[in-house]
Amino acid sequence: MDVILKNARRLGAEHELTDIGIAGGRIAAVAPGLAADGEIIDLGGRLVSPGFVETHIHLDKSCILDRVKSEKGDIEEAIAESARAKAAFTPEDVHFRAVRTLEKAILQGTTHMRTHLEVDPGVGLRGLEGVLPLLKQYDWAIDLQICVFPQEGLLNNPGTDELMVEALERGCRAIGGVPYTDSNPHGQIDRIFELARDYDIDIDLHLDFGATAEGMDLEHVCKRTEEFQYGGRVAIGHVTKAVSLSMPAFDAMAKRLADAGVALTVLPSTDLYLMGRQHRDDHNVTRGVVPAHKLLRHGVNCSLSSNNILNPFTPFGDCSQIRMANLYANICQVGKQADMRECFNMVTRRPAEMMRLKEYGLAVGKSADLVVLDSEGPETAVAELTPVLYAFKRGRKTVSRQPAMLHRPR
Ligand SMILES: [Zn+2]
Repeated sequence: MDVILKNARRLGAEHELTDIGIAGGRIAAVAPGLAADGEIIDLGGRLVSPGFVETHIHLDKSCILDRVKSEKGDIEEAIAESARAKAAFTPEDVHFRAVRTLEKAILQGTTHMRTHLEVDPGVGLRGLEGVLPLLKQYDWAIDLQICVFPQEGLLNNPGTDELMVEALERGCRAIGGVPYTDSNPHGQIDRIFELARDYDIDIDLHLDFGATAEGMDLEHVCKRTEEFQYGGRVAIGHVTKAVSLSMPAFDAMAKRLADAGVALTVLPSTDLYLMGRQHRDDHNVTRGVVPAHKLLRHGVNCSLSSNNILNPFTPFGDCSQIRMANLYANICQVGKQADMRECFNMVTRRPAEMMRLKEYGLAVGKSADLVVLDSEGPETAVAELTPVLYAFKRGRKTVSRQPAMLHRPR
């Protein structure tokens, strides 16, 4: 063995302690009392989980608070301010900021990431040129996938389609969209599906981001998913409009998503920050976070993700997926232990399923992409925001952190 994790609580079987042996980058054995050569790390009963999976984060426009204003704090201002800052992006600048954010995510135990990356005639491919080298540069710690998308619209913005195609040719392995910034939202969705089919890649859209339930594009996405036989390969993010649906309409939406095989990603920090701004000078502000755990009960797959880090869309961010799970649980009033466990699943197993990561998991033979949390179970990890003490990528230790210590008076 290369590494043996002694006295581990393996996610899914936390009630008993076991040892996990890692060899050749994979989980080679799971059994108590493993005896073999190799580095031994005694976990003292701490939780071992597969690494965190972030399906929706924007590395290219992270860490730009020093050059934008955030006065109104609504989505229109965020888009306009980001577009202004983006005009001055260089590949080097993007690379520098993306590294900062990516390293933060690695330190928080994220082992797989889909980063959404924008192209348009304003920024050209400069964002892509800044982020693309990270795939190889950081493959020792994280599997990074780029999802190219047209933030400023597609059909209304001549030249964008060609840039999307160029980005796909240069290695983007997923495609996204923002129909609500397009003059023809359904036209954009249709074109994204065509491109996805041409390149045989998955789809991850920003969708139905608004304060009321009017004019939702979700049904159109479900229809196209069925026509293109793309069930299980489409995700939609935000969908804050669903917060305003009546319970029967919400349940009908859940059934529709489950039947079509469309997954949903909630971005708790951004959705909280940008939504409800129509009540700026009022009390009783509505919040915009979709109760994803209620969708799970209908068979919809869901993930929780950071989305934006330190920019006008979200002026916060430590890239901690466990914090996203905790934030979500607080906002959506999650109390039942089974739902708390699902909050953990929505930053691990569920996004892994969304990204169709075949090597992900804790079974023998799976890639040893693991985190050790200072906790005995996923519910307490979410409830107590427990820190990541170790991360491993393909069996190699990539992160370690000392638990905090009390220094009592003698
Ligand atoms: Zn986004």
